Amino acid sequence: MKISWNDFVEECRNCQACPLSKTRKNVVIYRGSVVAPIMFVGEGPGANEDEQGLPFVGQAGQLLQLLLDAQGFSMEDFHIANVVKCRPPENRVPTEAEAKTCKVLLGKQILISKPKIIVLLGKTAYTLFTGDKMAKMTEIRGKFFEKNGYYILPTFHPAYILRNNNERIKLWKDIALVREKAEELGLMKPLPSAPDMPTARPSGK
Ligand code: SF4
Repeated sequence: MKISWNDFVEECRNCQACPLSKTRKNVVIYRGSVVAPIMFVGEGPGANEDEQGLPFVGQAGQLLQLLLDAQGFSMEDFHIANVVKCRPPENRVPTEAEAKTCKVLLGKQILISKPKIIVLLGKTAYTLFTGDKMAKMTEIRGKFFEKNGYYILPTFHPAYILRNNNERIKLWKDIALVREKAEELGLMKPLPSAPDMPTARPSGK
């Protein structure tokens, strides 16, 4: 059954399918382009995201945006979402049950957004998205795998990079890999020259 984006948004805003609906201020659905070749998926909204109703708008989101800008991604190239659309209280990790319930909506979102590349931001997003609890981030990050016709790349969550700045180069390399894959698949045109890693640190959460 085909569902329109507006109907999907309405469904999300009215959703009370899991307990997170009771404490949310906003249902956080996406930012970027509705239809986009690349989807970034985090674990869930934080306080800023809950307040503004947009994903990845705090300090971690600013870092992600900085890297995307530096690699020449425009708003039309990506769609940013989370495994769960409502903020878990105190920023706790979403439970498996909450993730499983909300993944029904994420599945619809993927069908509408039609990405070819899906980037999983952080171990929790990877585990909740794939169901694989055993993988170690050090072993899976930066390596694409294919599933159901999607090219999936696990990488670090930008919030982790803010706490471990010496790892920043790895996230930078992974975002560059996303760009490379998008070009290889003909989803984006090649950049005239390789960009430098940005050094400015985002301010404010
Ligand atoms: S987290 Fe997802 S499933 Fe739970 S209430 Fe929010 S939108 Fe519905």
